[in-house]
Amino acid sequence: MSDRCDEALANLYLYLDSELDRVSSDRIRAHLADCPPCEHVFSFEHRFKLVVRERLREEVPPEFIAKIRAVLSSEYEIDG
Ligand SMILES: [Zn+2]
Repeated sequence: MSDRCDEALANLYLYLDSELDRVSSDRIRAHLADCPPCEHVFSFEHRFKLVVRERLREEVPPEFIAKIRAVLSSEYEIDG
C-alpha cells in the first residue's frame, strides 16, 4: 500500500459523505482512477451504504451489519 492509498482509505467515509474539502476530494478521485484496488473498496463501500440505507427502512438485525463490516474489514484490512 502506498501513502496515497493510506490517505484515500483514511478519508473513505468523509469522501463518500461528501464532507471533504474540494482539493482533498479531487485528489482522492484522481487516485481512484489510477488505483483499481482502492477504487474497488470505494465502490463496494458506496454500494454497501446504499444497501444499508435502503434496508434500514425494513428491519435489519445489527448482527447482519456487524457481519458485513467484519467481512469487509478482514478482506481489505480496514479498521472500523
Ligand atoms: Zn490506492
